[in-house]
Amino acid sequence: MSSKHLSDSQLNGVLKAGNIIIPGDTEYPSFENANVIDQIDRMLDYMTEDDRKGLAFLMGIFAYLPVFLVRFILDLAEKSQKCPNFMGAPLRLIQMGVKGVVFTLYYSDLDEDGKIHQQLNWNTNIRMKPEDENSIKTILELENPSEAEIEYIYKYGKEAQVQIRKLTVKQRTKYIKKLRHNILKNKDQIILAIQKDTKKSKSDALISEIFGVLDFLVFLENESIKALKDSAVKTPIALMGKKSKIYRDPLGTVLIISPWNYPFYQAIVPMMISFVTGNATIYKPSEFTPLKGVIEKLLLESGFDTRWIQIIYGNGLVGSQLIDKRPDKIFFTGSVNTGKKVMEQASKKLIPVELELGGKDAAIVFDDVNIKRTAAGVVWGALTNCGQSCTSVERVYIQETIYDQFKKEAIKLCKNIKQYVDEDGDSDIGGMTTQAQITIVKEHLEDALEKGAVLLSGDKWDRETSMIPPLLIENITSDMKICTEETFGPIVPLYKFSDESEVISLTNDSDFGLSASVWSANKIRAERVAHRLDVGNVSINNVMLTEGNPYLPFGGTKNSGIGRFKGILGFDSFCNIKSILIDSDSATIEVNWYPYTAKKFELFSKMTLHAFSSGMKSFLKFALTGMSLESYSNKIGKKGR
Ligand code: NAD
Repeated sequence: MSSKHLSDSQLNGVLKAGNIIIPGDTEYPSFENANVIDQIDRMLDYMTEDDRKGLAFLMGIFAYLPVFLVRFILDLAEKSQKCPNFMGAPLRLIQMGVKGVVFTLYYSDLDEDGKIHQQLNWNTNIRMKPEDENSIKTILELENPSEAEIEYIYKYGKEAQVQIRKLTVKQRTKYIKKLRHNILKNKDQIILAIQKDTKKSKSDALISEIFGVLDFLVFLENESIKALKDSAVKTPIALMGKKSKIYRDPLGTVLIISPWNYPFYQAIVPMMISFVTGNATIYKPSEFTPLKGVIEKLLLESGFDTRWIQIIYGNGLVGSQLIDKRPDKIFFTGSVNTGKKVMEQASKKLIPVELELGGKDAAIVFDDVNIKRTAAGVVWGALTNCGQSCTSVERVYIQETIYDQFKKEAIKLCKNIKQYVDEDGDSDIGGMTTQAQITIVKEHLEDALEKGAVLLSGDKWDRETSMIPPLLIENITSDMKICTEETFGPIVPLYKFSDESEVISLTNDSDFGLSASVWSANKIRAERVAHRLDVGNVSINNVMLTEGNPYLPFGGTKNSGIGRFKGILGFDSFCNIKSILIDSDSATIEVNWYPYTAKKFELFSKMTLHAFSSGMKSFLKFALTGMSLESYSNKIGKKGR
């Protein structure tokens, strides 16, 4: 074990922290036993000198601290949200830095020998034997189901609900843990399958899909039990002697309909929230990126019953047919137009709907920022996944005093982007996934250029190939499609603004309200602006990063959608939130039960007056009238008027 960046004792610090974060179990090795530490230089080579120094310093300290103290620091860092700001910030940095190093090493090299991969063949057509006399296809991989088959899908869903409800949340999280390990083992195949369907770069597939999914599964494993347990709430004095609780029970069968831009993430994340909350799930991927067989195989090998989560392939018509049979909830991610159709159809049967739709996210850059870092972040936010993210930066507002410097930096960055569908992780972005989306980008670009916009990079694009280069554009006016509609391609449109109030109204002047980013050295100003934006998520001095924290809920305002998922709040979207009030079996007749009499009315009226007036005197009077009312109600309740 040696490193050109870290001393031996600093490497020991990494091992110590690694073993605390990934202690291992009977099936999977601990961080130390995974023998990944030798790979650390490969990762440290990519870090800045400052970050490397910071890590070396921290690991040097960890090396000399006893394990319990390192564990204490890491635990504290995990709970750093609760710490005051002056302590919270460094702790959060420790948490992100150490976890990042440990997870990246462990996840990227655990199965490099490829042994486990070779046992799997993603192309296997996993269809179960027909099991009823009418030869209804029993599902694992079912495409374009007939009406009768859809009836069966829901029938299986009902049966599955009974089985899943019998599992405790803890047992459900064990399936999730197994799934996480299977994803980890098979990540290279999964990346290949994602790249084949989407044309993403390998790094985009690893970072946004695999890492994001694994991180979210860890969150479910750690938080589900606490989040889903019955919670006690206060019971007011007027209901003295009773108890109140909230149960988080399953809804039934949840239908998840997903888009093509993150086919792995958009499948596993909602599917596992639905499962852990106890629902049966029907999942319909996009017809453009079905990842056929990939998810079934992972679920099967993680012990999931085939009816707990059923995957149905097909286009929008299939989605609509599935809605017709009345799921207990629809979790839809996709475009605004389809979202409206889904909601309209659901409204006819009063099916609850959650909509995660498109965006036109703004990046707001004030003139006190570090221009190099901010331009790098903004350009990444606009181009990651070739701009095909709901939270892609599609409007960059730059304070006029630094506009020219920022533009110069952005041109340099865009011109240096490497673009191809790679095998080695060396490409920045891949290509566009669907022909329809290429056409939209072309239309938006041509409309903008006709109306006077200026292209600063990407002029060599032939308007046909899916490898659309970064399109850095300026001189944009509000009558251009590129200014108001979601483009969903690698565009970086630059705008100028003069002051805070102007940029707030420019940002809010949009039909969308998904995310935004605010960049300023003045955090007070950045938070003030964040409060005033009509969006669901804001990253400050970073971009698209609210999605990187599984503890934060996600969702939009206006045309960007309805509802929130993920985070602790997100469990509730998949639950039947049930209110429970518990009284004792006794001889007491409640004051609001019959019979009603004039005397009861008078007593109740007095009690109401005292109950809702302020002061100790009123409280005492309330207690006395309450007692009289109770004794009178009991008397007439038992004897009659
Ligand atoms: P889309 O609306 O065309 O399709 C989404 C899904 O809906 C697909 O599975 C499709 O088959 C299905 N569908 C189509 N018509 C249907 C109908 N009538 N009834 C039921 N289902 C139907 O969207 P897309 O082009 O796949 O995805 C891109 C869009 O998704 C973009 O607008 C993007 O912003 C949005 N998106 C939003 C989020 C978010 O979390 N807010 C995340 C990713 C993508």
